[in-house]
Amino acid sequence: MARLVHIQIAEEKGRAPADEVSTGSAADFMPPLPSLATLQKAAAGCRGCRLWTIGTQTVFGEGPPTARVLIVGEQPGDSEDREGRPFVGPAGRLLDGALEAAAIDRDDVYVTNAVKHFKWEPREGTKRRIHKKPSDREVRACYPWLDAELTLLRPEVIVCLGATAAQAMLGKDFRVTQQRGKAIESDRGATVFATVHPSSVLRAPPDARETAEREFFADLRKVGQHLARESGTKRIEREREVGRAAVPAADVPPTRRRQPASRTRPRSERRPGRDA
Ligand code: SF4
Repeated sequence: MARLVHIQIAEEKGRAPADEVSTGSAADFMPPLPSLATLQKAAAGCRGCRLWTIGTQTVFGEGPPTARVLIVGEQPGDSEDREGRPFVGPAGRLLDGALEAAAIDRDDVYVTNAVKHFKWEPREGTKRRIHKKPSDREVRACYPWLDAELTLLRPEVIVCLGATAAQAMLGKDFRVTQQRGKAIESDRGATVFATVHPSSVLRAPPDARETAEREFFADLRKVGQHLARESGTKRIEREREVGRAAVPAADVPPTRRRQPASRTRPRSERRPGRDA
């Protein structure tokens, strides 16, 4: 398995230069002792890059603070920008379908984006707003929000949707086309999976749409299978901890990733002090 060296990735994410309307980094707006609630509030006033002048509002991540899975996309789309919530448009509905098919409980999922403002350009002669890919500079400027979400949530699994999200997490050399659906161990204590963004499935030409959707669902199913295996491992470990395990040590599957000792406690006892 490839390994993510978080320190190297963090170093790649040095400040973007400031300009006349932005400071160059979301770090300038980070609250002291952040919680998910204070992060969201602070992000609403972020001027870390110039996208605040383009999008309607900051679209922060959303989901339970106990989420096992953090799903990260590229940026909010048109519907998300208007509603102020991530993954509420057509791509979000496709994602919901794939999660359901993969038996991933929506209550276990937190959704967010690598960039938290909608970047768009007008389509000539219409009122339509056309998605524009965020630049490296904008991804870098926005990374402190994603980093803070990851630090607070400590998810077991991170799912990157599309190249922008995958490269924000795994570095510029990462290729979704070559490594989609593979489990990648992270020094953050989470297993990372990458797949395509559901909006790319929706944009696929009619003759490729069915295949694209099938492959997207298959990638999410691998995440669901991984979570199911992890749940089994944790249950056995927990039972052994309280001396009720009926299985010998050899039957306990090896832990698939490094994690602090606190992560082996029951979920109900973990993560004190976090809020929504
Ligand atoms: S995209 Fe991110 S860094 Fe840029 S203004 Fe919005 S929240 Fe801040």
